[in-house]
Amino acid sequence: MGKLRPMRGCLLDVEGVLVRNKAYEPVCGAVEWMARLGRSQMPFCLVTNNTTDTPAELLERLAAAGFDLAPENLVGALELGTELLRARSLRRICWLGVPRLREYWQEAGFELTGGGDCEAVVIGVNPELCIADLEDVLPAVLDRGVDVVCLHRNLFYLDALDRRRMGPGCWSAALEALEGRGRMVIVGKPDPRIYRAALKRIGVGASDTLFISDDPVADLVTAGRLGMRTVFVLSGKHADHEILGRMDQDDWPDVICGGLADVNLDQEDAS
Ligand SMILES: [Mg+2]
Repeated sequence: MGKLRPMRGCLLDVEGVLVRNKAYEPVCGAVEWMARLGRSQMPFCLVTNNTTDTPAELLERLAAAGFDLAPENLVGALELGTELLRARSLRRICWLGVPRLREYWQEAGFELTGGGDCEAVVIGVNPELCIADLEDVLPAVLDRGVDVVCLHRNLFYLDALDRRRMGPGCWSAALEALEGRGRMVIVGKPDPRIYRAALKRIGVGASDTLFISDDPVADLVTAGRLGMRTVFVLSGKHADHEILGRMDQDDWPDVICGGLADVNLDQEDAS
């Protein structure tokens, strides 16, 4: 380790770091840790691939779990995806995410339609998604070459009962394998787009920022490659560090901790 240099900003994943899973049970010690972070002068932001709650709902769920956060403390794949679709003037979308967010899209000014006449196919987490839903968008993907906007490419996630469920990464890979004429656009982690948006939000450069996540593959590889210091916590998807054996050593996280309570921001420093 070289000369010690304190971190100036902190980015955090939500599920598996603050809360255990989609039941939003707080990780042991995480509420107190976040309260300390909030009282400190360090700019921070949650970086979430959550596509099952609106940003306001997510903050409400976190508040119910004991986390006192403001809207500016959150950068999410759903809001970035919304901005991206608006910027590209894609207003007629086929939403393959959870049905309960149809209202969110309509209130945001989008027209929801099927695969036959949509301008973009938008994928988010959806436990109810079935093969027939994917087949519905085949004409759009194969014949009309519309873009597939994948809000994130997590291969799996833990549901409220701690079951591993296939995520948008699996569904988008299936559509990508068809080699349609449209583009596959990724919005959330691990695409750099959301990391850059979060760094811009906290106003701190990558080399002065700590990124904390329970997913070394989908979250921390990009953070590390962008120059951030990375912390892998074993409070979510992985109970041990066996996953590292399947990763390129260059992409290993800088620090491994049991959970957020074990991360000492005063001691986390750039090496
Ligand atoms: Mg996570």
